Amino acid sequence: MAAVLQPNAIPTVKLLINGVWRDSNSSDWRDIVNPATQEVLARVPMCAGGEIDEAIASAAEAFKTWKNTPIGQRARIMLKLQELIRRDMKKLAACLTAEQGKTLPDAEGDVFRGLEVVEHAASIGTLSLGEMAENVASGVDTYFIRQPIGVCVGITPFNFPAMIPLWMFPMAIVSGNTFVLKPSEQDPMTTVLLAQLAIEAGVPPGVLNIVHGGKQAVDRLCTHPAVKAVSFVGSCHVGEHVYNLASTHGKRAQCMMGAKNHAIVMPDANKDQALNALVGAAFGAAGQRCMATSVAVLVGEAANWVPDIVAKAKTLKVNAGTVVGTDVGPVISKQAKARIEGLIAKGVAEGCILDLDGRNPNVDGYPSGNFIAPTILSGVKPHHSVYKEEIFGPVLVIVSVDTLDEAIALTNANPYGNGTGIFTQSGAVARKFQNEIDVGQVGINVPIPVPVPYFSFTGSRGSKLGDLGPYGKQAVHFYTQVKTVTARWFDDAAVDGGKSGGVNTTISLK
Ligand code: NAD
Repeated sequence: MAAVLQPNAIPTVKLLINGVWRDSNSSDWRDIVNPATQEVLARVPMCAGGEIDEAIASAAEAFKTWKNTPIGQRARIMLKLQELIRRDMKKLAACLTAEQGKTLPDAEGDVFRGLEVVEHAASIGTLSLGEMAENVASGVDTYFIRQPIGVCVGITPFNFPAMIPLWMFPMAIVSGNTFVLKPSEQDPMTTVLLAQLAIEAGVPPGVLNIVHGGKQAVDRLCTHPAVKAVSFVGSCHVGEHVYNLASTHGKRAQCMMGAKNHAIVMPDANKDQALNALVGAAFGAAGQRCMATSVAVLVGEAANWVPDIVAKAKTLKVNAGTVVGTDVGPVISKQAKARIEGLIAKGVAEGCILDLDGRNPNVDGYPSGNFIAPTILSGVKPHHSVYKEEIFGPVLVIVSVDTLDEAIALTNANPYGNGTGIFTQSGAVARKFQNEIDVGQVGINVPIPVPVPYFSFTGSRGSKLGDLGPYGKQAVHFYTQVKTVTARWFDDAAVDGGKSGGVNTTISLK
C-alpha cells in the first residue's frame, strides 16, 4: 500500500549511499506493518532511477580501491562483523519478529544461519586461491587468479530478512566487489540494521549500498551498464523476469526461486521422529520458508498416519512471534493471508479432504493479526491447485502412493526442485532416493536440509536459474572471474642458440 510521507510522524527507512544514511526523495512510500498487530512500524521509499543510479555510481567508484584492498583486511572486517552480529543478536531478532512475524527463537535462527556465512566469508584467503602448473611448455608456467568482477547487486525476499542478505553481501564484498542491496520492501529494517553493523565493522563508503523499492528499482539494477552480477532470491515469476532482464543486459545472474518441497515418508521410518520433523518443517515460520515441507508423500502403510500428523499439528501454539512458547506466528500480510485462505477453499472445492482447518484461529490479544493455524489437506492429487501452486503458508498437503518409485516419479514430475526429504530406516532406500531424485537439497531423516556455508545452496529445475548458487565456494566463483596467465621468463644471460626453433608461427607452445 503506497502512503504519502508525513515527516516526523512515523520513522522512515533510510538509504545507504556512499557510506551516508539518508532519506529518499521519493514521493512513493509504503508502510511496513507488524503482521501480528497491524502497527505501522516505519515507511519505506519506493526508489526509482536517480537514487538507484547514485548507489551504483558510488559502488563503481569504491570498487577502484576496494578491489585492491588486501585479502586479510577484507577478511578482518568479516571477523568484526560476525562479532557485532553476535553482540546485537537479540536486537536483530526483535526487529525481525516485529516486521516479519516469525517467532523470536526462529528469528535468532534466521540471523544465525546468516552469521555462519559471515564466519565462512572470513576464510576468503583459502577460498579464492588460484592454481598453477609449472612447465606447461619449455620454461613456461600457467596459472589462474580469481579477480572480483565489480558492482554486484542483491535482491532479497521477505521471508528471511537476515539470512538471505547475509548469503549475498558478505561473500560479494569479501571477494573484492562492491554491492548494492535491495531488501524486500515488506521488511527491510532488519537488513538495514545488518548494514549498519557492516559499516561499524569497517566496510568503507560505497562498498555496501542499500536502496529500497520494488519493480522499478529492480529493473534499473538489472539493466544498469555498470552492474556486473545480480543475485536474486524470491518467487519464480519475479526470478524469471530478473534472470532474463539481467542476462539480456550482459550480467551474471543467479536466481533462487519458489518451491514445493516433498517429504517422502516410508512405512519403515521411525514414526515419531519422522512426524515431528514433518510437522515442524511444514508449519514452522508459518510455512513461509522456501525449504518448508509443503507436500507429505506417504508411502504404503504410512498413509494410515494422517490422524497422527493432524494430532501433532494441533499441539502447535499459534500466537504473536514475541509470545514465549509460540510455534506458529502470523503470515506476512493481509494479502498473503487472503491468498492462502483462498487456496485452502479451492482445495476443498476441488475435492481434497480438509483434515485440519486453521482458518481464522482465535488468538487472544492479537485480534487483527494475519494468523492461519496449521491446516492439513489429504487425498490430494497432482491436478489439484493446492498441489500445483506454492502456497507459502502453514498448509500441508498430503499425497498417498504405493511405492518409493511412485514417490520419486511424483517429486521429479513437480515443476519445482528446491528441497526434499526422505524418512526411512533403510540405507538402501535412502541411497536410491538420493541418486534418483532431481532436487537440489536432499534431506535423509533431516527435514530442512539447508546446507551449511562450506557448501552452497542450490536448487533444481523451476527453483533455480543460473548455474552457481549463493554462499560457499560457488559464491566465490559467482563473484569472481578467472584470469589465466601463461608466462615465460628469460634469463637475462640466455641466448637462443636455435633451441627454440626460431620464429614459431604455430599455435603450439614450444
Ligand atoms: P517476491 O518475488 O515477491 O520478491 C522478491 C524480491 O523481488 C523483492 O525484493 C521484491 O521487491 C522484488 N519484486 C517483487 N515484484 C517484482 C517485480 N514485478 N519485478 C521486479 N522485482 C520485483 O518474493 P517474496 O514474496 O518476497 O518471497 C517469497 C518467495 O521467495 C517464495 O516464492 C519463496 O519460495 C521464495 N524463496 C526462495 C528461496 C530459495 O532459496 N530458493 C529462499 C527464500 C524465498
